Amino acid sequence: MNTFQELGLNEDLLHAITDLGFETPSDVQLKTIPILLERETDLVALAQTGTGKTAAFGFPMLQKINIDSRTTQGLILSPTRELCLQITNEIKLYGKYCKGLNAVAIYGGSSITEQARDVKKGAQIIVATPGRMKDMISRKLVDISKIEYAVLDEADEMLNMGFYEDITDILSYTPQEKNTWLFSATMPREVASIAKKFMHNPVEITVGNKNESTNQVSHEYYLINSRDRYDALKRLSDANPDIFSVVFCRTKRDTQKVAEQLIEDGYSAGALHGDLSQNQRDLVMKSFRNKQIQMLVATDVAARGIDVDDITHVVNYQLPDEIETYTHRSGRTGRAGKTGVSMVLVSKSEVRKIKSIERIIKKDFVKKEIPDGMEICE
Ligand code: ADP
Ligand code: MG
Repeated sequence: MNTFQELGLNEDLLHAITDLGFETPSDVQLKTIPILLERETDLVALAQTGTGKTAAFGFPMLQKINIDSRTTQGLILSPTRELCLQITNEIKLYGKYCKGLNAVAIYGGSSITEQARDVKKGAQIIVATPGRMKDMISRKLVDISKIEYAVLDEADEMLNMGFYEDITDILSYTPQEKNTWLFSATMPREVASIAKKFMHNPVEITVGNKNESTNQVSHEYYLINSRDRYDALKRLSDANPDIFSVVFCRTKRDTQKVAEQLIEDGYSAGALHGDLSQNQRDLVMKSFRNKQIQMLVATDVAARGIDVDDITHVVNYQLPDEIETYTHRSGRTGRAGKTGVSMVLVSKSEVRKIKSIERIIKKDFVKKEIPDGMEICE
């Protein structure tokens, strides 16, 4: 089985797939779509970022819900506002020929009244961040008592962000007999515990990142003096004039500072972090998507799961505190069969972390020199 037709999808969805230009299903789609279409079952799917998970749950959900009904039947929980919007947009694209489909995004930082109004019009699918969802439930602005399919997307990340209780709470308002589909890049203890607590004999699917043609990232590191970090970034940008990248910093403060400095120095950059208003975040994301900004300087939380086409480089301006986060970062590039580069700036004291990352990603780094930068390299 290697065409979308063979997976059992209906005409409306196949039509949308043709429009989207998807030629063949990705691994995770091949493994999940037939099962979810054929069976009423819980499912745990482990797959790296960029492997096409949204379609893996989105298509089956669209095919199985009753679009003629106005009842909320599908609930997708995802960790951040940006992801929530992104998934909603994808679902709308996938369901563009499903007449009457109403998918609504529910997330913090934006008017709760408006979101409640959209839901009231009859949303068959709700895509939500856990915090805002809980809020809506406690104010009785949503009814999720008829949910048939619940998706926990980026489950590891939601739990990392401390949403365990919110998720538990939300799920307690959904019917016992629903199907729960959990998607995650990794399987830490908390994810296993959620799976055990809420799922019954889930089908388990793992998509290896070996031979994963949808994710082709090469990894490079640059040994620098800590005080030259910013100069190194500028030189890397100068050496790659067509760079279109996400630059990861560890804190909101550094993120803001680096973006401001870049702009001041004449680079095309913007900041994305949690201290900005929702409006500012939407604006910067829009400019980045439209390629009006070449370097999006971001925190891990703000940039989680962001799917922007053609990102050429991921720059780890600073390494993340948790090295597992590196996988999420580098997954921003090399998506949908394209190649990408993930670069890491490390000082001498951090260089041993490269070894630990290599063990996690099961790939070797290439050591590189900052171009033209004799005096800033050790
Ligand atoms: P994940 O959730 O696993 O990180 P996404 O669902 O965001 O991945 O998909 C990554 C990108 O790949 C998106 O731009 C999506 O439109 C694209 N994509 C998904 N499935 C396919 C496919 N079968 N063929 C081509 N592109 C695809
Ligand atoms: Mg995803």
